[in-house]
Amino acid sequence: MDAVIGLEIHVQLLTRTKLFCPCRADYFAAPPNTLTCPVCLGLPGALPVLNKRAVELALRVALALGAQVQEVSHFDRKNYFYPDLPKGYQITQREIPLATGGTLSFKVEGQKKTVRIREMHLEEDAGKLIHTESKTLIDFNRCGVPLVEIVTEPDLRSPREAREFLRTLRTLLRHLGVSNADMEKGELRCDANVSLSVDGGMGTKTEIKNLNSFRAVEKALSAAIEYQWERLSRGERVEQVTFGWDDSRDELVVQRVKEEAHDYRYFPDPDLVPLVISREWLEEVRARMPELPWERVARWAREYGVPEREAEALLAEPARAAFFEEVAKAIPNPKAAVGWVLSELLPYWTDEEPPLSPADLALLIRKVEEGTLPRNKAKEILEQVAKKEGTVPELVRAAEGSVLRDEEGLRALAAEVLAAHPQAVADYRQGKIQALGFLVGQAMKKAQGRADPKRLAQILQELLRE
Ligand code: ADP
Ligand code: MG
Ligand code: ZN
Repeated sequence: MDAVIGLEIHVQLLTRTKLFCPCRADYFAAPPNTLTCPVCLGLPGALPVLNKRAVELALRVALALGAQVQEVSHFDRKNYFYPDLPKGYQITQREIPLATGGTLSFKVEGQKKTVRIREMHLEEDAGKLIHTESKTLIDFNRCGVPLVEIVTEPDLRSPREAREFLRTLRTLLRHLGVSNADMEKGELRCDANVSLSVDGGMGTKTEIKNLNSFRAVEKALSAAIEYQWERLSRGERVEQVTFGWDDSRDELVVQRVKEEAHDYRYFPDPDLVPLVISREWLEEVRARMPELPWERVARWAREYGVPEREAEALLAEPARAAFFEEVAKAIPNPKAAVGWVLSELLPYWTDEEPPLSPADLALLIRKVEEGTLPRNKAKEILEQVAKKEGTVPELVRAAEGSVLRDEEGLRALAAEVLAAHPQAVADYRQGKIQALGFLVGQAMKKAQGRADPKRLAQILQELLRE
């Protein structure tokens, strides 16, 4: 029995101001109720004015997903009473959304999977309730913050797929520069719908609201599938339930059953004119689109020979991708930068800023590739720089000074190693190539790590051939 899953995803757009007023939109660290005005507080007589930048960011998403942008869409009022909604309604797009259709492809267990997008629209966020032991407080800072909601068709088939789809979407949103899409900060939130189909048809769906981590999406969907499966296997019907998710207890919490479904009395917002997207405007937005993550994967494979898996790991963070690109451009063998960035640099890249510049990492890699700096010495330098114990150029200069480069000395050292290990020499001559690695290791030890292992291997091979 297959699970059928569809997602409704809310993305906070990276605008300076809110969707319909000039209040700042970066509410996350602001003191409560400091980013409000008559418009976002819904005071009588205040009128909304649409934020052009929010529309452009949403259009970027539409173009990236290959959606059909509606030339004319409009805003509707979704009416309901809740303390975090001072106007008594949310401005959203219901009748005619900004864009319809489109797809997003992602990888799950090495297989490519494509999910159809049903529609996407602009809407405003509500405020925040803060529950303390004795009372509930309201922070209106988030009221009116711009969101784009993306609704998928029910094309996903497992909690795992849902998680990987979201991960891919997050990467896309970050590369488009439309959102930080940080789930912990609520900049990317997901309502997940799931049903089990007993006979290949559509089952009754269960909805889980407001999931705000990849883990929660996967766990909550698994729990909802289990909940449905238990009922169906007892011969019961599945009711249309809306759940919340308790993250601390890993439990579904019933929010409402179908009978309590809201009637939102939607109608077009009379305060706002229809949203018209001219062909010229759309082309302007298209012309300013950044390179898409999957386009980058293809280009890196073509230009630099970067394998797809590594490319995806580099692309997970736009800053990481940009850093790699800079390093790759600055060295003769760009592919060498992959391992350096992913394995060597990332453990030290814990702040927002990288611990060194791309030019400095490129310098290190070039020195290693040229054979003037042993690899482990270069790794040491990276560590020292991360600990702020010096700069790359000065540490490289010092290290190069201490590297053994006098050929006579290296030959003597290699000869000593061969003399000391007759068994390895015999093994090598009988075709056990691995013996060379051992001999190089011994020679490096003797040189106290101050030689270039590639050059030592060459010298050892020459002597072994004699
Ligand atoms: P509603 O009217 O209850 O909001 P929609 O038809 O608008 O339902 O769909 C909302 C989301 O639920 C969409 O992402 C859609 O793909 C998904 N969905 C719809 N029907 C099902 C189903 N039977 N099983 C799982 N997901 C579903
Ligand atoms: Mg819906
Ligand atoms: Zn405001």
